[in-house]
Amino acid sequence: MTAADGSVAGPTGTAGEFAGLRALVTGGASGIGLATARLLHRRGAAVAVLDRDPRDLPEPLLALRVDVTDDAGVRAAVESVAATLGGIDIVVNNAGIGAVGTVEDNPDEQWHQVLDVNLLGAVRVTRAALPHLRASAHAAVVNTCSFVATVGAPGRALYAASKGALLALTLAMAADHVAEGIRVNCVNPGTADTPWVGRLLDRAADPVAERAALLGRQPTGRLVTADEVAAAIGYLAGPAAGSVTGTALAVDGGIVGLRLPAR
Ligand code: NAD
Repeated sequence: MTAADGSVAGPTGTAGEFAGLRALVTGGASGIGLATARLLHRRGAAVAVLDRDPRDLPEPLLALRVDVTDDAGVRAAVESVAATLGGIDIVVNNAGIGAVGTVEDNPDEQWHQVLDVNLLGAVRVTRAALPHLRASAHAAVVNTCSFVATVGAPGRALYAASKGALLALTLAMAADHVAEGIRVNCVNPGTADTPWVGRLLDRAADPVAERAALLGRQPTGRLVTADEVAAAIGYLAGPAAGSVTGTALAVDGGIVGLRLPAR
């Protein structure tokens, strides 16, 4: 809520570079999204988290249970966020699910399911938020893509296609809305140490060997942290990136850019 002096109460912070700004983060209850929601709030933004499972969220964050595959639910949640926070300046489309396999492995049903979350989820949330972004003097959208959108990653056909499409959508939206003062960018995380990777390792036949393999392909020798990706999202969403639009920022430990042989 914005008071007469411009300060804010409830889920809104009051100091820092995001003071007075209102942010919406999808998939903000875990991993990269949670780190992003916390960072934006710490730096002064009012933050709403949209997640299909908004568990254990720290108090100052406004939490809404919504599945990004549900268009009516997304529209209602976005309007509720705008009404509660007094508008929306920043949208972080971060909700995503994974898939493994080649084109022979995933049935059509699974393609529809993953694209529905990873691509159409961002479409629905952005579409619902656009009227509010147009009313903002500082409008920014940041999409969480992946390094697999820009490099051939074996056994990730469906997931890579979903993130490649999200990357292309980022560029198209940046072009469509630049004249309206809305910036659109994305981050391409490498393998990030979040519950996502924990689940991946849990499912592996040999979790220790799988973790070693993940680390082995990282030029930095370690996994990316959620906070490092959040910092990049914060940069792209923030005033310092006022001239940055239509770009993809790799936060991947050098996995794409350095092309070093695997250790
Ligand atoms: P995570 O599993 O820790 O968090 C994902 C969050 O998204 C969860 O809170 C989950 O409830 C939510 N979510 C999933 N489907 C949803 C839906 N349909 N509607 C609403 N919320 C939904 O994963 P993470 O590692 O933090 O991943 C966040 C994003 O980063 C994803 O888009 C993922 O593709 C991307 N990414 C992750 C990595 C990695 O290695 N962790 C690498 C590259 C890209």
